[in-house]
Amino acid sequence: MLREKLIREIKLNGPISLANFMQFCLLDKDHGYYQKQNPFGKSGDFITAPEISQIFAELIALFAVYECEEFRSLPEIQIVELGPGNGALLFDFLRTAQKFPWFFSKLSLHLVEASTRLRKIQQEKLKDFGLEILHYGDPNDLPKKPSFIIANEFFDALPILQFEFKGNIWFERKIDFVDGEFRFCLLNTAKAQNYVEKFLDKNIAYKEGSIFEVSPATISNVSVLSDFILETKSKALIIDYGYGERDFKPTIQALKDHKYHPLFADLGQADITALVDFSLLQQIANEKNLAVIFTSQGNFLNSLGLEERVKMLTKNQPENIQTQIKNSAARLTDSKQMGEIFQVLYLS
Ligand code: SAH
Repeated sequence: MLREKLIREIKLNGPISLANFMQFCLLDKDHGYYQKQNPFGKSGDFITAPEISQIFAELIALFAVYECEEFRSLPEIQIVELGPGNGALLFDFLRTAQKFPWFFSKLSLHLVEASTRLRKIQQEKLKDFGLEILHYGDPNDLPKKPSFIIANEFFDALPILQFEFKGNIWFERKIDFVDGEFRFCLLNTAKAQNYVEKFLDKNIAYKEGSIFEVSPATISNVSVLSDFILETKSKALIIDYGYGERDFKPTIQALKDHKYHPLFADLGQADITALVDFSLLQQIANEKNLAVIFTSQGNFLNSLGLEERVKMLTKNQPENIQTQIKNSAARLTDSKQMGEIFQVLYLS
């Protein structure tokens, strides 16, 4: 089991980084969370926007059709999704896209997915649209053609490192196994100094105990995507829970059965995520000179006409259905629910 595997690894090679720990728990090929659990929906561990309301993906489709207008004369447009989960987002996206035959007729689907189990589920869910569906393990392998790229709650699942500021030094927080339990320990690693050097402002007086989280996988994926966008004139819509400004607190969390779960308990059976550092994503995109739009999920969906869509869907419906449609739309945009904690970054 994962616990024994991890203890063995630590005994053999010393404390492991938080990123390796996450990678292990989420994607271990035998016992990893995404390989075997059914994480999504009411019966799973968490529920994501596409499953809360169909309006989420419908509005993204309208946005994509509009933004892809400049591809009208091209023979093909790739829809790329990173981490499509159970395929719910693309399902509603494509239903809406079908209403625009010029657009729909050019589409092929390119799904970046690490889990073999989820690949099968995605294939099955989307097969009736009759589009070509290709899977990849790595965005580097995507065909270099004009694409509309979507990533919803993908980056929050990518492994992070944590650094802690103590006595004027940034230490790496790694995981050790001591007296029969997993524990964080602080190590002065070259990695810590490199990341701090590259990404943190030297002129800020950091408070004792500040935590800086950074995801190497996010950095590499966003760099790859940025180059891809430049080379192919593509566009990327990244939506995730996260922040535009760092406040140097830890955000890693484990979730099981819709409740918070201790990080070191039941390895491989709880989802582990961290808030996405959108300031870092923007820094990378800016360095590549991409056009960057950054806003909250609430603003984004409202500006695309969420209210109008709610009106259309509730028309002639019994009252309980009306309430249900309105409540789920509100859950996506309300500032106390997903409206402000979820951010949207659009790169082109
Ligand atoms: N976008 C979906 C699911 C989000 S869950 C939704 O909104 O409902 C995260 C998804 O990313 C899962 O499909 C998971 O298997 C996939 N994933 C996680 N880490 C990955 C990695 N390193 N490479 C590719 N896919 C990954």
